[in-house]
Amino acid sequence: MSRPNAGGAAQRARARGAVVRPFALTVTAAQDLSPAMRRITLGGSSLRDFATDADGATWDLRVKLVVPAPGQRPPRPEDLAESDDDGSWYQAWLALPPEVRGEMRTYTVREARLDEAYPEIDIDFVLHAEAGRDGTVHSGPAAAWARSARPGTETLVFGPNAASGECAGIEFAPGLARHVLLVGDETALPAIGGILRDLPAGMRAHAIIEVPAAEDFLDLPTRADSDITWLARGAHGHGELLAEAVRGVVLEPFCAPGPDLVARASAAGKPLDVGPERELMWDTPQYRRLFGEGQATGIAQATVRPFYAWIAGESGLVKGLRRYLVQDCGIDREQVAFMGYWKRGVAQH
Ligand SMILES: Cc1cc2nc3c(=O)[nH]c(=O)nc-3n(C[C@H](O)[C@H](O)[C@H](O)COP(=O)(O)OP(=O)(O)OC[C@H]3O[C@@H](n4cnc5c(N)ncnc54)[C@H](O)[C@@H]3O)c2cc1C
Repeated sequence: MSRPNAGGAAQRARARGAVVRPFALTVTAAQDLSPAMRRITLGGSSLRDFATDADGATWDLRVKLVVPAPGQRPPRPEDLAESDDDGSWYQAWLALPPEVRGEMRTYTVREARLDEAYPEIDIDFVLHAEAGRDGTVHSGPAAAWARSARPGTETLVFGPNAASGECAGIEFAPGLARHVLLVGDETALPAIGGILRDLPAGMRAHAIIEVPAAEDFLDLPTRADSDITWLARGAHGHGELLAEAVRGVVLEPFCAPGPDLVARASAAGKPLDVGPERELMWDTPQYRRLFGEGQATGIAQATVRPFYAWIAGESGLVKGLRRYLVQDCGIDREQVAFMGYWKRGVAQH
């Protein structure tokens, strides 16, 4: 997701290097983790300049991956117009001729091994495919690319630039909450796995994850005191089981409407939709802060909130959960990150 250019960011970027930069990477391994999920390992010496947070963690770090146009090589970093402006990497890519540009999609860094002699990152791709009425199978360029990627396949990834002194693309920000609720469909599974891996001991985490089938349940190691609820979708509609499960766990004491519910719900305002056509619902304390709205979040925030929820998946599903949690339950938006990761029937570009 391209971030809006906050005031002074371009100036800071000039002084320290742009926050996001291109990385030319090569597939070093491909492994099916389950029927729905394939892990692609990408390596490249440029990853030595890939940023993590101050503790080396990546949480739910997102990157942009370029899928080359059919029969083409991916663009190279040197094909992109030089610029030191934070937001311009996307414009530089967009300015390439379509046959060179390819398609861009957002993915999560599931693991990063940046200190190795040959640094690598893992990205876990959902192999989605839908059968059309005429019997043809529709997928998307990124899912199709992941299916066919082999060692030696090249790609271009836009990710956080260590030289900037920041790690752009981490949305998880629980502040001082000691209890986190992680909710998502299969596209959010890599991020939930990364968050669980990076949570310290002493945190209480409940993850609720809906995947196509029981064969897609994966091992998610963590030091936190965790409880993972796996939901196998089977013949249910996408997100049906997840929505029901969230309503089952977010009750008292977190869902406490009280007399000021109407005031809190109307103060909740509208979510800030994102994506090329504003099609993805995105409402997180971090993101609102870029627009000068909302309070400071992160570990420095003084207020101890009872819990923090992180919710990602199909945009309509996330929108429905936001309605329930913010409008019906009156939960403070500072406690929840709502993120549409994809939208049914809409290709991301
Ligand atoms: C911050 C962020 C992190 C993400 N991390 C991951 C990740 O780690 N792994 C991952 O797999 N995805 C992840 N996604 C979701 C991914 O970007 C989308 O699923 C993307 O649309 C896939 O691109 P595509 O080219 O395969 O399909 P598109 O060309 O975008 O879409 C083609 C069609 O497929 C449908 N579609 C897209 N995704 C799915 C799906 N998962 N299931 C069913 N139908 C689908 C669309 O609605 C559309 O009709 C993330 C998204 C965001 C915003």
